Formats: sequence, structure tokens, C-alpha cells
Amino acid sequence: MTTIATDYKVPQLTIDGTTQGSAETLSVIDPSTAEPFIEVPSASVEQLDEAVAAARRAFKTWSKLPLTERQDAIRAVGEIVRANIDELAELTMREQGKPVGNARGEIMASLRQVDFFGTIELNPEIIKDDETGKVVVKHDPIGVVGGITVWNYPILAAMFKLVPALVAGNVIIIKPSPYTPVGTLRLGELLQEALPPGVLQVLAGGDDLGKAFTTHPGIDKIAFTGSVPTGKAIMAAAAATLKRVTLELGGNDAGIVLEDADPAVIGKDLFWAAFSNSGQVCAALKRLYVPESRLEEYCAVLAEEAAKVVVGRGDQDGVVAGPIQNAAQLEQVKRLADDARANGADFFFEGEVPDGPGYWFPTTLVRNVAEGLALVDDEPFGPILPILTYTDLDDAIERANNTDYGLGASVWTSDPDAAVEVAERLEAGSVWVNQHPVVTATVPFGGVKQSGVGVEGSRYGLLAYTNIRVVSIKR
Ligand code: NAD
Repeated sequence: MTTIATDYKVPQLTIDGTTQGSAETLSVIDPSTAEPFIEVPSASVEQLDEAVAAARRAFKTWSKLPLTERQDAIRAVGEIVRANIDELAELTMREQGKPVGNARGEIMASLRQVDFFGTIELNPEIIKDDETGKVVVKHDPIGVVGGITVWNYPILAAMFKLVPALVAGNVIIIKPSPYTPVGTLRLGELLQEALPPGVLQVLAGGDDLGKAFTTHPGIDKIAFTGSVPTGKAIMAAAAATLKRVTLELGGNDAGIVLEDADPAVIGKDLFWAAFSNSGQVCAALKRLYVPESRLEEYCAVLAEEAAKVVVGRGDQDGVVAGPIQNAAQLEQVKRLADDARANGADFFFEGEVPDGPGYWFPTTLVRNVAEGLALVDDEPFGPILPILTYTDLDDAIERANNTDYGLGASVWTSDPDAAVEVAERLEAGSVWVNQHPVVTATVPFGGVKQSGVGVEGSRYGLLAYTNIRVVSIKR
């Protein structure tokens, strides 16, 4: 077992370039033991006020720097993250539960934000320039951003927000999930070296602190990753001060396998589309539709992949999947599984989990299920996949779309024309072909319907951290 040394200096809040403790603390649980392993400060509303005041001061100069100077600082941010990857990966493994190699992968993926936004251009657009006048569209920073993040990819979620927000000229205060605050607090401490005071601040705290962000008059935009109900609460609260919002919410992504696909070829990718990060991925494959005539073949290849998965503590050799991150999430997965079992679902594969304490749930494959069952209609956010069948492709597409979610979807086929035809008809922010999900810095990612508002990634994601200002000159 990897241990955080007893003399490990507990990461603190970062406010105005310095670290601070707090009277209140958050006890952080290691999901593989279900035991607390560290206590970190939990910011008060007064500390939020202090951070917002510092942010507003910092914004005055940061927003006026040339883009290239802000990008120099962002590249320095990337260097610091890279230099401290071992520590950040260990903290992520301990608090989130994922294998340490995957934690490193998460942090490396976050560096692609730096590569992309660290060199992007944000030039004004000239939409008219003639003898009658000139019209220029500029992209001004919005101001102080409140970044509220979730527990499945804590460092990635923070970097997804802070990198484009700062490049666009904003300043940001990040509130990580109370379940996984440690790595983000440490990130905040480490990055002060690259940034002026008040440009990036990190305040850990519970849901109430998140609420205080959404009503704070000194915060101009909320960039949120989390659940649909919280996204709705944030949008409602933000209305009072007309804060801008970007909401990256939940999903219940369908994947439709077409007749021509070969289970031997796509089986492994299908499996990991659903089970990566123990299923705790917003845009994981959560409902798999296969042709009825080929159900047995797909169940066989998926079970073969599932049998290879070793679930355990993230620091043990050979482990490829960790626990569920928290007790409430484990209860949600168990509730959906129990309900499916009680309704006659066939649990044709259930893997092994370690004995003893920890938020364990086995790798689970389920068939003989249909819409109307909570396991199919709700987002499990855990290592369980319902496999549904269809005989008519139009019907499968309709069923796939029959949800309030609209984050991702996928089509699996070797026929490129059929892939495009089905992709065009799936209601989702991203439709992938023969893969699921793919989220990178260079491509926009966001949900339609109730899976979100706006996108992250790409130039579109950068523009989400700007207000348009038009300068119109009469000649
Ligand atoms: P959650 O919505 O409960 O919590 C997320 C964050 O919001 C936490 O920091 C929490 O403290 C804060 N919060 C809670 N109530 C708040 C309020 N009223 N005002 C402001 N902040 C508040 O999220 P969860 O249920 O723990 O996370 C799982 C969900 O996140 C899943 O639905 C998953 O699909 C979704 N998710 C989406 C994406 C995406 O990019 N679309 C990525 C990861 C996870």
C-alpha cells in the first residue's frame, strides 16, 4: 500500500497567492478502505469573499496582459504539473480510487489543454472594413470565473477550466468536489509559482460553498461539471446576477452496434467504452444496443474482456479498475442493480472484488433488460452495463434518443455510409463511430438536451470564457 508520509504537508486553500487553513475541515475518504486518510481545510464564506476580492484585483492586470504573456504563464503551469506528476497522481489515486497509472494518464491528458490553449490565437474578427466604416468583433474576458468540479477526474476537470479561462484573460477560483479536494488544493499551491496572486485560487468546501459561488455578486461566470440536478440549481441561482454558465452534466449514452460489425474486432473497445474509470465517466457507454440475432456473440466477447479485469487498490500491481469513489454513488449503483435483478434481468457476468472494506462493486454485465427499467433509464455511473437488443434499426435509434440526456452516443459499424446516416440521427453533443468516448482539448465537448449548456475544449470552449464586444466605426 502506498502511504502518504506522516510528515506530508496537508494541502491548504490558496487565496491571493498564499496558503490558508480554515476553522472547518473536510475529512477525505480513501474509497478503497472507506476510511478517512487526510483532513483538508474547508473554506468559509468569508474566505470566499476574500478570494473574490483578490480575484477582482488580479483581473485588472491579468486581463490586460497580451495573450502571449498569459500563454507563457500557462506553459509554465504545464511544466509545474509535469514536474509534480508523481505527487499529483498519488493524491488522485488515494482520493479518487483509480489505478495510479490511470491517474498519471489523467494528468498527462490535462497537459494537452496546455499544449492547445497555450498556442491558440484569439484575434478580433473584422466583419466589415470599407469606405462606409469598420466593424470589429473582439473577445473580451468575462471576469472572475467560479469553477465547480466533480470527483471522477478531479485534476482533469480543474485543468479543463483553468487553462482556457486564464488564457482568455479571466481569473478563476476553483472549488473541487468535497470527495476529492486534495489533488486540486495541491495543484493550486503548486501553480502559484507560475501565476500572479489572485489569478488562480482554490477553495475546498462542501455543496454550500458551491451555492455561495453561484450567488456571489463578484463572480461573473460559473463553469460547472457535475450532475443534472446541480446544474439546474446552478442555472437558477446564476439567474439572479445573470452569470454566464457552462454546464457539463450527466449522460446516459447509447451505443448502437449495426448488423455488419464484427464482435471480435470491436469487443474490447466496446467493453472499455463502458468500463473505463470503473464506469464513472460522464460520457461512458451506458446503454448498449446490439442486433437481437447477435446477442450471444456480443455477450461472449464482453464477458471475455470483463474476465480480464482486476479490480483492486490503485497502487497494486495488475489492478486495472478501482472502487466506486464514494458511498452514495455505490448505493446508487447497487439500487439500480438490485432493481434490475428483482425485475428478471440476467446478470450473466459478475466479476470479483477485494474482500474487506472499500466501496467495491464488481464488473457487471446484464442482459434481458429493456427501457422502463431504472438501470436502463437512469445513469448508473458505475461498472455495470445493460445490453439491449433490437430487430429494427429505426426503432433502436428512437429508443436511444428517448431520454432527456444528450451527452454522447456511438455507432459501431464498418460501413462508413451507414455510420454517418445513424450518427446524423442520434441526439447528442458528440456522436462517435467505432469509439466512445473521445474527449480532447482540440475538439468541442458538451451536452444537448439536459446534459449541459455550452462546450469545453477547442476554440468554442475558449470563446465560452469571453464576452463579445463590437467596435463599430462610421467613416
Ligand atoms: P454533484 O452535482 O453532486 O457535485 C458536483 C459539484 O457541485 C461538487 O463540487 C459539489 O460540491 C457542487 N455542488 C453541489 N450542489 C451545489 C449547488 N447547489 N450549487 C453549486 N455547487 C454545488 O455531482 P455528482 O453527482 O457527485 O457527480 C456525478 C455526476 O457528474 C454524474 O451525473 C456525471 O455524469 C456528471 N459528470 C459530468 C461530466 C461532463 O463533463 N459532462 C464530467 C464528469 C461528471
